[in-house]
Order: sequence, then structure tokens, then C-alpha cells
Amino acid sequence: MTWKATVLTLFPEMFPGPLGLSLAGKALIDGLWNIEAIDIRDFAHDKHRSVDDTPAGGGAGMVMRADIAAAAIDAARTSAPAGSPAIYLSPRGMPLTQLRVQALAKGPGVIMLCGRFEGLDQRVLDARDIEEVSIGDYVLSGGEVAAQVLMDACVRLLPGVVGNAGTHDEESFAAGLLEYPHYTRPREWEGHVIPDVLLSGDHEKIARWRREQAEALTKVRRPDLWERRGKPQT
Ligand code: SAH
Repeated sequence: MTWKATVLTLFPEMFPGPLGLSLAGKALIDGLWNIEAIDIRDFAHDKHRSVDDTPAGGGAGMVMRADIAAAAIDAARTSAPAGSPAIYLSPRGMPLTQLRVQALAKGPGVIMLCGRFEGLDQRVLDARDIEEVSIGDYVLSGGEVAAQVLMDACVRLLPGVVGNAGTHDEESFAAGLLEYPHYTRPREWEGHVIPDVLLSGDHEKIARWRREQAEALTKVRRPDLWERRGKPQT
């Protein structure tokens, strides 16, 4: 069964967007994954096809209606592979981690609901078993870019998408560490040289140096990651 991304959005023309290019785009053409963008507006029932209304209790902005979002989710659940989790991209969600991405990439696919306006009527989240996932502590204008982030992170882990799968074992977060620095030719550039050890041909020494670099970088830049190392992750 092909891994499938089902996206519920008011802007289906935003998809596949950047995922139609480069590695993900080639993998899409090769049938290594699949995407369906469903227009939430198709589930509106009035002649203006409206999907939002003013917030109960007052305040700024508009809120996406529960009945319409639920109809869209129900339709997505019938066309998505069985067992695909439904995720609402939301700044209130649990922050996305590489561990979660790995789990999602191993599954059948993912249903993603992209919010707009102030957000979504809470009742649909409670009634439809939808998990909120955030891509970081900042506010976007809509969930589409967040959905693309989630998809990109998953698709590159699917078998056959990235040529050398060994790449995944050493990259940032794989072992709870940031990645070591990279260098390539020329050996000297503007007076800066490639560290000698990398040109030594001694693979053990190189591995040790990379490990030390990764640890030093993680300690300084991400003390939170460093603290969590070796502990059960979510
Ligand atoms: N009023 C909301 C923000 C709404 S932003 C709040 O304060 O929590 C509009 C939409 O953008 C949201 O419904 C969500 O789908 C998306 N979005 C914004 N920031 C996001 C983030 N950090 N991660 C994932 N989705 C986000």
C-alpha cells in the first residue's frame, strides 16, 4: 500500500506545491507516495459556500465551523488508507519531533486538517479523535505550510525516496544529537581549511571526531536535547 497524505484545506491549489519538486516530487511521480487535497469548501451547504462564522463569546476573527470540518474529515477517512491518523496542524499541538515523523512514515499515511482564520470549533476536535500537532512555537496564517513541513519530513523517510538510506542514521536528531559539520572541496577556501582529521583516511578517528563535534554542538545549542538524551522520547 502506498503511503498517502490526505490534506483538508481551503486552498487545494497549494498542493503538492514544493513537494512536487526535487526528491519528493520525483518520488510522487514514481508512485512512492500519494497525495489527495480535499477542498473543505466542497462540504459547505449555503450558496456562498461559507465555512466559518463569528466566534461564540465574541472577539476578533472567524472560526471554522464544526459541522463542515467534520463532514470533510469523515470524507477523508473514507478515502484515506485505513489506520491513517487525523492531525490538525495547530500551534496548540504537541511539537512535531523526528521520532513522531518516523512513526508516521512507517504507517499507512496521514490525514491533515489545515486551519485558517482563528482556528477550528473545538467540538470537532473532541468528537472526531483528531490530534493537534504543532511545527513550532510561532503562529502561521494557515495550516497548509505546516502540513507541507510534516509531509516533507515523512516522505523523505519512505523507502526509495532518498538514494542512500544510510543518510538517515547520522542526521540531526537521529541519535538525539545535532549533526556534525560538513566540508567539501576545495581543501582551502578564503584561508579556511578542512579539518586535518577528515583528510586522514582514518575512519575510526573521523567517526570519533564527528561524534565529539555533534555532542559539543548539541550541548551548546540545544541543552534541552542534550538533557533528554538516552531517556524515553515522544
Ligand atoms: N488563533 C490560533 C492561531 C490560528 S493561525 C491560536 O492562537 O492558537 C491559523 C491556522 O494556522 C491554525 O488553525 C493552524 O492550522 C495553522 N497554524 C498556525 N501556526 C501553526 C503552527 N505553529 N503549527 C501548525 N499549524 C499552525
